[in-house]
Amino acid sequence: MADWLKNNKKRTKGERQTDGLATFSYLCILNSQDVKIIEVLRALERFAPLPLQESFDNAGLQTGLTETEVSGALLCLDVTEAVVAEAVATGCNLIVSHHPLIFHPLRHISGGNDVQRAVMMAIKNDIAVVSMHTNMDNARGGVNFKIADKMGLEKCVFFGERKCATAIDGTEVQGGNGVIGSLAKPMAADDFIKMLKSQFDVECVQANQLLRRKIERVAVCGGAGSFLLGDAIKAGADAFVTGEMHYHEYFGHEQEIQIAVIGHFQSEQYTNEIFREIIEKECPGVKTLLTKTCTNPILYL
Ligand SMILES: [Zn+2]
Repeated sequence: MADWLKNNKKRTKGERQTDGLATFSYLCILNSQDVKIIEVLRALERFAPLPLQESFDNAGLQTGLTETEVSGALLCLDVTEAVVAEAVATGCNLIVSHHPLIFHPLRHISGGNDVQRAVMMAIKNDIAVVSMHTNMDNARGGVNFKIADKMGLEKCVFFGERKCATAIDGTEVQGGNGVIGSLAKPMAADDFIKMLKSQFDVECVQANQLLRRKIERVAVCGGAGSFLLGDAIKAGADAFVTGEMHYHEYFGHEQEIQIAVIGHFQSEQYTNEIFREIIEKECPGVKTLLTKTCTNPILYL
């Protein structure tokens, strides 16, 4: 066991520590002692009801007991062992992720792979893991709206398949699996690509032939969104921005639509900001921490 983990286990409630992360953990304990994990989960579900998720998905509670008080929430895209270690080190007993920790059913949990080890580590350290995945993709104000916001798109609406779900408080919530909006000022295609590289910290955008007309209407789908390319064209988009697409899907759309693929991680990296906004608004006093662990498994060499 690492030294910091041993030290963390020795900490008692309210004990002041000298390092920065521990001070954060101390403050978490002081400020969020009345809020239970279930209340944070409910707040997230009110924003992005679980029935909005796709049928293949496993959003919702992944591990842990929800009646426990929150000592702090670590917000991230993926739950890896390093992220669980970060939660332990910062005194957070709740991790809120976009991608589910448990996506494929587990037949046993014996540390045989990275997912099993992360599950074991979370349970051993009394950390609850909650994932808000395609329900957050499909929600109003969710992942795709956040991406659109980072691009400065205005008048954003859903395109593609519309969703409707009943939230836990009984209200009907509308959703959809893509978002389309307009740039405040039409842009040349090369400037648009440059803007994406800078806004999403992208090393290399994968694009089809540069569009010779200006780009104004932009369709967005974070992650693996190529299934929405046809809908984006039908919706009148000049550009389609997503996280990943297959080689053959780029063919045949020259001068029809500007395809811009910015990377799965890069497209969804700001999802933790949505979690923070929801928790700060709905559960004031609960301290939130955006993960410092980069979980993008892809290197650009
Ligand atoms: Zn994703």
